[in-house]
Amino acid sequence: MTANDMPIKDRSLTTSHTSVPTPAMSYIATEHSCRRSSEMPFQTAPKDILDFIRQQIQQEYAEPHGKPWIIGFSGGKDSTLVAHLVVEHLISLPRSERTRVVHIVANDTLVESPLVMKHVRISLTEIQKAAHAFDLPIVVATTAPEPNQTFWVNLIGRGYPSPNRNFRWCTDRMKIQPTSNYIRDQASISGEVILLLGVRRSESATRAGAAARYDNGSRLNRHNDLPGCLVFRPILELDTDDVWEILAENKPPWGGSHDRLIQLYRDAGGGECPVVTSKSDAPSCGTRSSRFGCWTCTVVEKDKSLAGFVDSGFDQFMPLLEFRDWLVEIRNDPKRRLARRRNGRVTITKKGVFVPGPFNMATRREILDRLLTLQAQSEMVLIAHPEIERIRELWVEDVIVSAERNVQAQRTLATGDA
Ligand code: SF4
Repeated sequence: MTANDMPIKDRSLTTSHTSVPTPAMSYIATEHSCRRSSEMPFQTAPKDILDFIRQQIQQEYAEPHGKPWIIGFSGGKDSTLVAHLVVEHLISLPRSERTRVVHIVANDTLVESPLVMKHVRISLTEIQKAAHAFDLPIVVATTAPEPNQTFWVNLIGRGYPSPNRNFRWCTDRMKIQPTSNYIRDQASISGEVILLLGVRRSESATRAGAAARYDNGSRLNRHNDLPGCLVFRPILELDTDDVWEILAENKPPWGGSHDRLIQLYRDAGGGECPVVTSKSDAPSCGTRSSRFGCWTCTVVEKDKSLAGFVDSGFDQFMPLLEFRDWLVEIRNDPKRRLARRRNGRVTITKKGVFVPGPFNMATRREILDRLLTLQAQSEMVLIAHPEIERIRELWVEDVIVSAERNVQAQRTLATGDA
């Protein structure tokens, strides 16, 4: 864990109204000031960066049009802070000025870390209740992959090998598409939407690169892949310390405190899988620093979120951790893979390397059997019944396709065609 990722327990500025200058307040004098001052008008802006961000949110919301806002909510600290600041702003407005609908949208890959998903569900319920109580124009929604494109349907049904860095088939199907579909739907209803993301430039080199692609000197940028979607990144220039500082010092406007979130980071021991809405963001999904991703994630060499939770005393996740490790282990076992890809072709790279096809049927059956046993023992819902039905349909389709290919091959041999 880096100092920046360290939750509040080891830091001194945990109380409200401290007289000690916060990183946010003192940032004009820090090494970050050059970068920030070149991109943000601090000569004329308030000293406190938090005030500046609040001002940006207030100004953007007051723009004379009705484009709805969509907040991509992962339940992590950054998107929580964005939701916090926006809900706080809506509450501060008279009812007559709450003219813009704000969607707070989480995505459930259906294989999320169980504790993280629980936290997201509780947070969304709290926000929903506050929206009702304060009469706020907030829509809370959760998206999910298409039933035909879930992790298990692709892994067990189609036999896709466990995802890795070279074949990361999961992010687009499980994260980008569900969120993008929601955004497209809203854009088609309203003409244009504004997507609020909790991305921060200092989060990582990858995020800095992705953020730079959107730098055009104005508050809103066109989304690279989604027509009708403008992107607003209100906390782009905050550092990790700033985010923790603000969350620790300010109670969420929907009630309670951010303690559950802080505890979650302590238990998981690290960073999060951010909201992903484009392929250029995909490399940050399932990276070594991501600890809040899918519990099945085999893109990371060693799972850190479940391991962190197990280390924090959540022993019930140990069997899930072992199952994930087994998925990594079997991935490159040639005995478990078919020679041909699903399109019937044999793949050999330009360098002459043979690339095996999907998991064979025996392995797919074994994965399903083990998963169902794990589900029964863990008493957690790990795979849904419709997924099992779809998997069985795909198996039947694969058997038919394979039989047809064999017949075709025999005909070819019989007629002597090459
Ligand atoms: S966390 Fe891992 S398994 Fe989940 S979508 Fe990202 S890369 Fe894929």
